[in-house]
Amino acid sequence: MQKTTTKRSNSLDMPSSIKYDVVVVGAGFAGMYLLHRFRKMGLSARVFETASSVGGTWYWNRYPGARCDTWSIEYSYKFSEELQQEWEWSELYATQPEIIRYAKHVADRFDLWKDIQFNTTVNSVVYDDLSAKWTVTTDAGDVCESRFCVMATGCISLPNKPKFQGLENFAGTWYHTARWPDEGVDFTGKRVAVIGTGSSGIQSIPIIAEQAQHLYVFQRTPNYSIPARNRLLDPSEVKEIKANYSEIRKRAQTTPGNQARLNLRKENAIDVPESERLKEYQYRWNEGGSSFIGAFQDLLFNADSNETAAEFVRDRIREIVHDPETAEKLCPDNVIGCKRLCVDSNYFEAFNRETVTLIDVSNEPIECIVGKGPKVGKHVYDVDAIVFATGFDNITGALLNVDILGAKGKILKEKWQDGPRSYLGLMTADFPNLFTVTGPGSPSVLTNMIPTIEQHVEWITDCIDYVIKNEYATIQPTVEAEDDWVNHVNEVADRSLRTTCNSWYIGANIKGKPRVYMPYTGGFPAYLEKCKAVIANGYQGFRFS
Ligand code: NAP
Repeated sequence: MQKTTTKRSNSLDMPSSIKYDVVVVGAGFAGMYLLHRFRKMGLSARVFETASSVGGTWYWNRYPGARCDTWSIEYSYKFSEELQQEWEWSELYATQPEIIRYAKHVADRFDLWKDIQFNTTVNSVVYDDLSAKWTVTTDAGDVCESRFCVMATGCISLPNKPKFQGLENFAGTWYHTARWPDEGVDFTGKRVAVIGTGSSGIQSIPIIAEQAQHLYVFQRTPNYSIPARNRLLDPSEVKEIKANYSEIRKRAQTTPGNQARLNLRKENAIDVPESERLKEYQYRWNEGGSSFIGAFQDLLFNADSNETAAEFVRDRIREIVHDPETAEKLCPDNVIGCKRLCVDSNYFEAFNRETVTLIDVSNEPIECIVGKGPKVGKHVYDVDAIVFATGFDNITGALLNVDILGAKGKILKEKWQDGPRSYLGLMTADFPNLFTVTGPGSPSVLTNMIPTIEQHVEWITDCIDYVIKNEYATIQPTVEAEDDWVNHVNEVADRSLRTTCNSWYIGANIKGKPRVYMPYTGGFPAYLEKCKAVIANGYQGFRFS
């Protein structure tokens, strides 16, 4: 279908709008694959992207040490056999620059650049009941009309910049890990404060520690972290993987995290002798990576089992960190795997440097930032730079950052004020023809994101194809199907230990955000079956007009 330019008839002041079949918001791995699929369907599609290039959250997260903690071989597209055969990952865990090179390669290979408008932020997406079309407006002055709209805005993309009082008075320079300067930052000879000890902090702290004259790490909650044991990939290993790529991808889909490497063991920790448990934990610790949490199938369901794994990790921390007091402060006391399990390279080891100081702010928070640096109680930490590794407004943040107005003027922010409501994390009632990739209520962040994104993109594009071929104007979920799914998502989450801590999965990191467990914890295979069954039953739970 061809794009056409028309003058909007309902307002004389409206700039002329361009018509597309589909508008996609975001040119990360979801937006890129969507564009490729829509092109193949013969639809006109426009992608808007805030950044100046592709890669989504990976474009922005250039902080020192940034790398994916999912195996590179699996954290990649599988839709094109040629692509996965030709691309060479160099390390077990890809660095941010390598992931960006991969994203650019994909954009080149599938000729995506020309339909992506960079340096453009979508401000609003508004549905018109009469025409059954969406009007998309951007900060660059674009106004376009589209029949379908897909929000590919990412789950971990909108930075959380906590409002520290007095930051404007800070005499030094400050950075957020998720908005790192393109040219990098050299901390040599500088006194640096890092605030936050989640994945971003845990990855960047060892590198900053190597450079800084002195590093102060401000920790509110300690995190469990497993050594990555990153290494270069061996060419013979890669050859073997490539020979079995489709089998590896299929196996991944049978695991809860859509990741073959996770290798979930079928026994319960509580049912095996202590010696066997410790052997398994030690094996996984030595192997490295987040597959540690797959050591036993009940780790996220049985508190006693979980404690055996948690204590094993605490003992490793006590072994690594020389100063017993610092080691104890670094030992988490919550459920392991409740917050996202971190994967590190020499994180705990960094605290053995004389130039690194851990500041526990769990009981006494950072009161404010003064000219010299962060102030805790009476003490001011005199620093040249502050790094905020304070994370994101996850899952709903980037989506609700766009003004989304649905049928009969329904405002998405209002609809979701007590927590997100969606059917399968794909659509929400009263927002016809508007889709979300890895939206709340889907497995998303609990799985290997790129193949999980692919599953959503394929479901969405097939669905749009169905709507067009059957000459329907719109599709949206019924309120009943949405309510049932939301109840199911909550029920399944409550069965696990995942709801027992203040994680970003429940929005606890953002002041005022409703506390609702957002991702679907039922595992990728169950979710995949549900998505297939919905289609097999004639898009069960959806209604067409
Ligand atoms: P995060 O996990 O939300 O961690 C933010 C940290 O900042 C927490 O330690 C938090 O403490 C702290 N914090 C926030 N506000 C604070 C305040 N006012 N005072 C003191 N401390 C404060 O964010 P993240 O590390 O950026 O990671 C987010 C997610 O992104 C990860 O869980 C992961 O899914 C993804 N990620 C992945 C990779 C990878 O693949 N390797 C790398 C980076 C990020 P509390 O815990 O007490 O709230």
